[in-house]
Amino acid sequence: MIIDTHAHIHPGRDGLGAKHDASVEAFLAELDRSPLDLAVLLPIEPLIPNAFVFEAARRRPGRIRCHGSVDPRRGDACWEDFEQLAAEHPIVGLKLHPRRQGVTKAHWPVLKGLTDRAAAHDLPVLVDSFPHGKGALRDDSLELIEALSEAVPKAKLIIAHMGGIRILEALILARTSYRIYLDLSLILKVYKGSHIEQDIFYAIRRIGADRCLYGSDHPDVPLNESYESMRRELDGRGFTETEQDWIFGRTAQQVLRLNGEGAG
Ligand SMILES: [Zn+2]
Repeated sequence: MIIDTHAHIHPGRDGLGAKHDASVEAFLAELDRSPLDLAVLLPIEPLIPNAFVFEAARRRPGRIRCHGSVDPRRGDACWEDFEQLAAEHPIVGLKLHPRRQGVTKAHWPVLKGLTDRAAAHDLPVLVDSFPHGKGALRDDSLELIEALSEAVPKAKLIIAHMGGIRILEALILARTSYRIYLDLSLILKVYKGSHIEQDIFYAIRRIGADRCLYGSDHPDVPLNESYESMRRELDGRGFTETEQDWIFGRTAQQVLRLNGEGAG
């Protein structure tokens, strides 16, 4: 089974940047001509509403699943938002985007409460971790994940984009708990040709394929382009068929509990 665990759509075609087509139609067209068995869509409340991605998922039953999102700026009220989401929709995890959701340290107790609730539902928390744009050098998303892991040891936590330029720190963090996973989306395209490219595959080997989740970050990297380049790199670097089976699907099946039914 081939699973892309990290893809986005947006209500506006250029809602994720003028260079990319983030529309539902473009995503579905890519999906239809891809070898993917399943793609996972990520809402980011309030920018990319849950209802919008759930609706898109219904257009390809069985082939799209969705994370859920809540707005941490709503404070404790977002705990109930999450409970309602988990009760009413077959979400596969909780997506947090500290940068796009304007999260500060003041929100950490709220995020700890959310992580408690996600863990109670055995749902992973996927935290965007890609220092970028204004304030990039003050990015503390890995410190947030470390704090959540220490406060809620049973929570499953996913470091999106392998921590970006902080990839080796992400690896150190992932090695502190068997319940921390690396999401491989976006990073290969961004750092191709730099020393980080080598670090990506070093980190996968070091942590093990059963702790890695393949993803594209569509539309930043289109579904097919991303899949083909990651497959090519893993083949070229001698990753076995079994290792690739984990990276491209088995890890996701376990962590996101993808064996059940549901559109989103
Ligand atoms: Zn993303």
